[in-house]
Amino acid sequence: MNHYDVAIIGAGIAGLTAAIYSSRAGKSVVIFEGEGIGGQIASSPVVENYPAYSEISGMELSDKIYEQAINLGAELEFDKVVEIIPGKKAIIKAEYSEYTADKLIIATGAKHRHLGIEREFDLVGRGISYCAVCDGTLYKGGTVAVVGGGNTAVTSAIYLSGICKKVYLIHRRDEFRADVELAERAKNISNIEMKLSRTVSRLIGDDKISQIELNDGEILDLDALFVNIGQVPNTELVRDLLNLDESGFIIADESCKTKYDNIFVAGDVRTKVARQLTTAAADGTVAALA
Ligand SMILES: Cc1cc2nc3c(=O)[nH]c(=O)nc-3n(C[C@H](O)[C@H](O)[C@H](O)COP(=O)(O)OP(=O)(O)OC[C@H]3O[C@@H](n4cnc5c(N)ncnc54)[C@H](O)[C@@H]3O)c2cc1C
Repeated sequence: MNHYDVAIIGAGIAGLTAAIYSSRAGKSVVIFEGEGIGGQIASSPVVENYPAYSEISGMELSDKIYEQAINLGAELEFDKVVEIIPGKKAIIKAEYSEYTADKLIIATGAKHRHLGIEREFDLVGRGISYCAVCDGTLYKGGTVAVVGGGNTAVTSAIYLSGICKKVYLIHRRDEFRADVELAERAKNISNIEMKLSRTVSRLIGDDKISQIELNDGEILDLDALFVNIGQVPNTELVRDLLNLDESGFIIADESCKTKYDNIFVAGDVRTKVARQLTTAAADGTVAALA
């Protein structure tokens, strides 16, 4: 069985950054990836908030970070990990390979929860977005809508109200799940219009979204729809192994350490406030150094 000093699960920005730091520290490193290099960001046409690049595609950014990790000696195993057996030497079982490692960094990321309505996937990057901080400026001066009732949705609406002419906040209940103070703040902003007890039933537009229909038949003209109805962490692998918060994210301490001394967690899969590229890279750094 192959043995490495450090095994990393996930070749997203967190995992790749952890690989750079671990390799530079002289450790032997294997990165497991089950789907595609770069993780979530690889599907984003443009990133405008990663330091040093005022504009870069998600694919190009992840290719650069991947190349850097590989040039430093990290190895990629294109294989989905299916089981972890903790221990002084952790055992990592993937679909087609099996390894042991002294240290394990879990960087399996998360997926955005989708609305689940027709044409949603076709329109991603063409008016449908899951991240206001990432894509808000693309709709400067425009009309947008945010769907959701938690802190992320309300924060997104407040953030977008500073950039866009008009923001609709659509929530399926008549009360927000978000903190009361935050919801009150949003209610007092003049260019935010609440659409409560309403859901989005149809997306309209040819090449890009131009209107949405709500379940009561109302049609809203808009330039973008931000879907903020939660994230689903990729934690199937560790559900019975590590401590998870009530939303299923892995709980770790300041050094990204889990309840096991040699198992660390980095990036979007970890309990944290901000899920961004820079915070994923920061976690990868902290976990590797720890
Ligand atoms: C469309 C879109 C646009 C975005 N735009 C921006 C932006 O402009 N700026 C910004 O800061 N943030 C943006 N984000 C958020 C940002 O992409 C994430 O915060 C960041 O990529 C998280 O990185 P990560 O490494 O933690 O996880 P991920 O990117 O989710 O990577 C996790 C990787 O682990 C792999 N994996 C999971 N389970 C297994 C397993 N069992 N075995 C092997 N591999 C596994 C997955 O296949 C995946 O490749 C965007 C997100 C999306 C979806």
